[in-house]
Amino acid sequence: MTDLTATDFPPGATLRAEARIDLDAIRSNTRRLGQIVAETGSKSAAGVMAVVKADAYGHGAVPCARAAKQGGAAWLGTALPEEALQLRAAGLTGPILAWLHPAGGPWDELIVHEIDVTAYAPWVLEEITAAAQRCGIQARVQLKVDTGLGRGGTQPHDWLELVELAAKAEAAGHIRVTGVWSHFACADEPGHPSIRAQLDVFALALAAADHAGLRPEVRHIANSPAALSLPEAHFDLVRAGLAVYGLSPLPDTTPADFGLRPAMTLTARVALVKNAPAEHGVSYGHIHHTAGPTTLALVPLGYADGLPRNSSNVGEVLVGGARHRVAGRMAMDQFVVDLGDPDAVHDVHVGDEVVIFGPGDRGEPTADDWAQATGTLNYEIVTRIGPRVPRVYVGNS
Ligand SMILES: *Cc1c(COP(=O)(O)O)cnc(C)c1O
Repeated sequence: MTDLTATDFPPGATLRAEARIDLDAIRSNTRRLGQIVAETGSKSAAGVMAVVKADAYGHGAVPCARAAKQGGAAWLGTALPEEALQLRAAGLTGPILAWLHPAGGPWDELIVHEIDVTAYAPWVLEEITAAAQRCGIQARVQLKVDTGLGRGGTQPHDWLELVELAAKAEAAGHIRVTGVWSHFACADEPGHPSIRAQLDVFALALAAADHAGLRPEVRHIANSPAALSLPEAHFDLVRAGLAVYGLSPLPDTTPADFGLRPAMTLTARVALVKNAPAEHGVSYGHIHHTAGPTTLALVPLGYADGLPRNSSNVGEVLVGGARHRVAGRMAMDQFVVDLGDPDAVHDVHVGDEVVIFGPGDRGEPTADDWAQATGTLNYEIVTRIGPRVPRVYVGNS
């Protein structure tokens, strides 16, 4: 959860750093996904589930869930039960699916709050059915099959047992099977042979569920990369996370290629500007030395805030109208930028905005640039921005 918001600070206070979240971008990205899947879904039209797990990939679960619903998302998705319950507590209505439960649920609370829960093994379904009987409320259950990812889900050899158990519990009135679903291993590598193989296994799993008499409202397997690149995987619903936040999951593409706009801009305010002589070591370990007389600017953001430590000497930021590298080690709370010019002390001032990443249209680096510089995915760059960075919501009307 995001612990700090701009309202926790005195009015008018200058924030050390902030993650600006453009809710208009979230709305329009969701709308765009809706258009893409409406044209290609297998029934009349497929819908969008906005995946808001992990505090909406670091963007803030509740405001982003509201914005995604305003953009037309029919469903919300979370990994953890407490994430789903947080949405209900904030007053979000409509279908919500959670899919990663510890033993024990907490099923009663999820059932009472009408959250769709996921049965990914026969024993999970037995726990859910017992809880539904205990609560006297029909549980909404989705069945998850492992079509080849090799992570969550029921292996095909146990699938028949799971669907028959579900059909029995449904006939007894304890549960309603609302969905059947699966997840891809390599949808972000279009053409990967596992994609076709998983679709084939999914077709068999759906046929077995149908044969057992189950009539789920939604069948779904597509994440963002499949939503954007694989129409035949759209079925009734796509579970989109990354694309809702305006980032592309596919190689060699930009968000604009799909009509998406990055929603997060991460900024900080310069905390100190000073001259330094040539050959001055900079930050822990002295892995950077000034090349000549220069100006150093101190940026009060570090790995405790989610900036990767291996951005040392490689991450770039926008300051004073130009891009500069992180000079030396990224520290826990701060890093230094070497402006390379002793006169820059007159151009860059304490309090100036430093853009770490954003949509890219002001010349600032993007989350993709940070991912590339540090050897990870754009998913991780935005999600790891920590609770110490206040989220400031714009486009809120
Ligand atoms: C995180 C997640 C998604 C969303 O994936 P994106 O690639 O961000 O769209 C969908 N389904 C499951 C099961 C997930 O865990």
